[in-house]
Amino acid sequence: METWFLVTVFITGLLMGSFFNVCIYRIPKKESIVSPASHCTTCNAKLNGPDLIPVLSYLCLRGRCRYCHAKISVRYPLVELLTGSVYLALAVRFGMGKTFVTYAVLCSFLIIAAAIDMEYQIIPDGLILTGGLFGILLSLTGWTVSWQNSLSGMLLGGGVPLLIRFLFWMIRHKEGMGGGDGKLMGLVGLFLGWKQTALSILLSIYAGGLFGGILLLLHRKKCDDAIPFAPFIAIGTFLSILYRRDLIRWYFQIFFGRYPG
Ligand SMILES: [Zn+2]
Repeated sequence: METWFLVTVFITGLLMGSFFNVCIYRIPKKESIVSPASHCTTCNAKLNGPDLIPVLSYLCLRGRCRYCHAKISVRYPLVELLTGSVYLALAVRFGMGKTFVTYAVLCSFLIIAAAIDMEYQIIPDGLILTGGLFGILLSLTGWTVSWQNSLSGMLLGGGVPLLIRFLFWMIRHKEGMGGGDGKLMGLVGLFLGWKQTALSILLSIYAGGLFGGILLLLHRKKCDDAIPFAPFIAIGTFLSILYRRDLIRWYFQIFFGRYPG
């Protein structure tokens, strides 16, 4: 694969990440994501030129606003780097084409949802609906799975968390999983179809369980503390996209001793 192609993909990811930062900051506040132009959230100074270069401007300014010297959250360069790296990984794995575009769109929505969930413990409905529109469009135009598969993926993705929520409520009489998690998993289903959604759910639960277990061991959390789950949905889905075949083979070999076919 050509180096210039990968560099272009990575830089596009950095720039998209910069836009996602605007979304992450403004969507929970119900502000427009297109206007006004980017500005410092402390002194309102309009950012232009060099202030808008992803990651580098943060490093050059040592994480502070050029005008009022207020601290800039480290989330900004992290989201940019994360988006660049995710796009790069998808490009290396799938090359340029419909598959890459579909997965890049899905991962973009997952990154925004995960960051908002970590900061505000919500997953905005508007974000899910916008992502859903993309998912339906991509499916109807033949860029991703068939619409039947897309629909069953959405029902499975949205349904399993609903079931967990119900069981948790029956057993412990409290909410085990946020309603937003089910909607986000339903969105994943729309893009990936039901089989890969099943794998994504499994991996998300493993990732969340592992992280929760480590926090419990370190006494950083109590059993009843809520942990935002969207980041684990993002991690689980990303892993299932990249390593689907290897993971399914590995799973069968561990539990059944062989891989069918
Ligand atoms: Zn400022």
